[in-house]
Amino acid sequence: GIKRYTKKTPKSLEFYKEACKVMPGGTTANIKFFAPYPIVMDKGKGSRLYDLDGNEYIDYLLSYGALILGHGHPRVLQAVQEQLYDNGTYLFGTPHLLEVEMGRKIQQLYPGVELLRFTNSGTEATLLAIRLAYAYTGKNKIAKFEGHYHGGYDQVLVSVNPSIDEAGHPHQPRSVAESKGMDQYHEEHTVILPFNDLDAASDILRKRKDELAAVIVEPIQGGYIPAERSFMEGLRKLTEELDILLVFDEVKTCFRLGLGGAQEYYSIKPDLTALGKAVGGGYPIGITGGKKDIMEVSLPKAASDVFDSSQSKHSNARDVLFHSGTYNGHPSILAAGLETIAVLEEEISQINETADRLKTEISKLFLQRGIAVRTLGIGSIFNLIFTEKEQILNYRDLQSADFGLRRELDFQLINEGIYTKPLNRYSVSSAHGQEEIDQTLEAYDKVIKRL
Ligand code: PMP
Repeated sequence: GIKRYTKKTPKSLEFYKEACKVMPGGTTANIKFFAPYPIVMDKGKGSRLYDLDGNEYIDYLLSYGALILGHGHPRVLQAVQEQLYDNGTYLFGTPHLLEVEMGRKIQQLYPGVELLRFTNSGTEATLLAIRLAYAYTGKNKIAKFEGHYHGGYDQVLVSVNPSIDEAGHPHQPRSVAESKGMDQYHEEHTVILPFNDLDAASDILRKRKDELAAVIVEPIQGGYIPAERSFMEGLRKLTEELDILLVFDEVKTCFRLGLGGAQEYYSIKPDLTALGKAVGGGYPIGITGGKKDIMEVSLPKAASDVFDSSQSKHSNARDVLFHSGTYNGHPSILAAGLETIAVLEEEISQINETADRLKTEISKLFLQRGIAVRTLGIGSIFNLIFTEKEQILNYRDLQSADFGLRRELDFQLINEGIYTKPLNRYSVSSAHGQEEIDQTLEAYDKVIKRL
């Protein structure tokens, strides 16, 4: 597959060499690199991407799931344009109407969100949730699950993708830093839990409850390994009992299961919620929301005075949780998010059905050839895992997979015009329809014969 890949993408290679003179590794995020070199895309339209050599692809990366309506959805473009031009400016630096409009929508859709703050990314959304948890509980450690990603900062960038040699016992995983330059503190202060293993997780949580401000979880690991219902219900009960806050990181799951994300799907109300990706319809945004009394740890002193001057809650600035950001609640991005929700209210079930059909048909093609594959995921994200293993419930289970075969499949598919970053999950958008399914299955059929 790679030989043909390099033959088809000479301009990408040429340009990539130039990019390396500007950015380390020629990319502005490590994850966007893959060997031998990433394709350089030129434009996107609907379900399609076009590279510098003019090759056309059906896009299943969709910018890591953010583009739930595909590239350049006309209604979203128009909403952004109106906000940008007709309202005279694009950034006010003051409260504005769209914040409340978007906030109300999110409150209606996400039962765990009583109050919220806007941020600029998913990373910032989980970061704020963790600070709120520290401040509210007065405790200074968090627990996260092995294999779960919550952003690129020290508290959570541990044991996302650890080598099994270093990862410790499956029932008592070790905290392994994912990056050079990380403060040792967080390796020691972030407790790692095994996903979908309530007994082992509960042993650890009971032992460490007095130190733990919060447990943060991706309800669907990586967007495609769902928490078992009994596990999620158990985790909610246990955290309540132990006075540990439960944080749902719904950056990937929001709008991808249903409009109400994992908390609607599991009927579970977390204490804090982080949203991102699809919620901005392709524009940078994050949202941190949660219970009123937790969120109000960030209530400015003077603001509480406005409502009741006798009940001044905070005596000095350090009694208030600091949260800020020049671009928080950016009007044109909120316009994009609101329009995205409006489109999804009409089309979300169709997007999920497309993903389901695709998943089922791809499975069938592999089955016919006697290749063991699991298609995992709910809603509009799924992944292909080559394994004989019956159940894939967590990071350890994934280690049984044949990633070499998957990589070969992905390169061959890229050569046939089906794009996701090698080894990445598939996301589907409203721009993906029967034509895309047919074309994708045709490519799969061709490629599987050669595997
Ligand atoms: N949490 C989860 C579950 C994510 O998938 C991501 C992004 N992949 C993040 C947080 C971080 O979001 P962002 O890249 O917008 O900072």
